[in-house]
Amino acid sequence: MTLKSAYMDYQATTPLDERVLASMLPYLTEKFGNPHSAEHRFGWEAEAALDVAREQVAGVISAPSEAITFLSGATEANNLVIKGVMEQWGRNKPHLITVSTEHKCVLEAAEVCRKAGFRVTLLPVGQDGIIDLNQLEEAIDAETAMVSVMAVNNEIGIIQPLSEIGELCRKNGVLFHTDAAQAYGKIPLDVEAMGVDFMSVSAHKIYGPKGVGALYHKLGKYTTLTPQMHGGGQEGGLRAGTQAPALVAGLGRAADICAAEMAQEQGRLTTMMNRLVSGLKKSAPALIINGHPDKRWIGNLNVSFPGLVGDRLFADIRGLAVSTGAACASAVAGPSYVLDAIGLSDMDAKSSLRLGIGRFTTDEEIDFALDKIAEAIAKQGGCE
Ligand SMILES: *Cc1c(COP(=O)(O)O)cnc(C)c1O
Repeated sequence: MTLKSAYMDYQATTPLDERVLASMLPYLTEKFGNPHSAEHRFGWEAEAALDVAREQVAGVISAPSEAITFLSGATEANNLVIKGVMEQWGRNKPHLITVSTEHKCVLEAAEVCRKAGFRVTLLPVGQDGIIDLNQLEEAIDAETAMVSVMAVNNEIGIIQPLSEIGELCRKNGVLFHTDAAQAYGKIPLDVEAMGVDFMSVSAHKIYGPKGVGALYHKLGKYTTLTPQMHGGGQEGGLRAGTQAPALVAGLGRAADICAAEMAQEQGRLTTMMNRLVSGLKKSAPALIINGHPDKRWIGNLNVSFPGLVGDRLFADIRGLAVSTGAACASAVAGPSYVLDAIGLSDMDAKSSLRLGIGRFTTDEEIDFALDKIAEAIAKQGGCE
């Protein structure tokens, strides 16, 4: 059977695993209680679902379950940490450090802080997409409240040196937040060993439902946050609003499956990715892999095809669901700010594709992608 399409946009979102769906259904039907209702069975059942999920989510990063807060996703977690920390600590420590290649929600939250009068340093990255630790150390001063550096970049897949950053932050008494939406459940993470104070997680990047995520929030006085949502005191007062037991149960189950299958999944994806890369190099010998060659999540490949016209390439691979260099900002003109930050020319950035593979990717889909791209390249007379 020949395929008509293939999904290779696992960084944008992942399909819901059926095992995750099964864990959610009871909480959408018979177990419909409000977890905040302490007086009856319906409430207890729903609360028990949150307790189980909290253990599951915490377990993946070796954290205590009390350090996990459920909320709507990584966007909300990032906003809560950045605004909440600056509001809490900014009077004495009005300085925030983050990176130019962070997800838009981090950059926008940092911009809100800047407009509120705080000082924001945006670190550059090298051509490999990774920050320079010396530059980070130089940027830290007596007024720095927090450093926010993502774990795995959503566009180019590179892994930032979390442990080294965590050590620097600890040494200087600075809080460390990492947006781990693309890393959690995929690569080993240990918040204590890595010196992470806050970590943002999203369920729909790990085969869970959209609309739910978690914030790991190290227990202790110095990590106190000012809540950004006020109301009924749910989630220890950190995030008011009735929790969504079905979504949270799904997040918990999704986390559990990722942890159990992490090593095996990494092996399978490595084999598949190697085949994808060598196949692409056959049709495009001049292909450029964007971002560090090894320090990367194996499910993400961001490549440029020098000399090819990006718009035509993209039009000719219809059926292959990938993201262009212009990425999720497809409505926004101009190439991606991440590719710009690693020094790609406009031309190379415009001829780039992000190919994301994951749990449900098949060998047939890899073949489909290779065929489609080879045809599109041939149409333009080849790529060197
Ligand atoms: C997807 C993603 C987000 C946003 O997560 P949501 O749960 O969709 O809000 C934030 N940061 C990174 C790195 C992401 O990949």
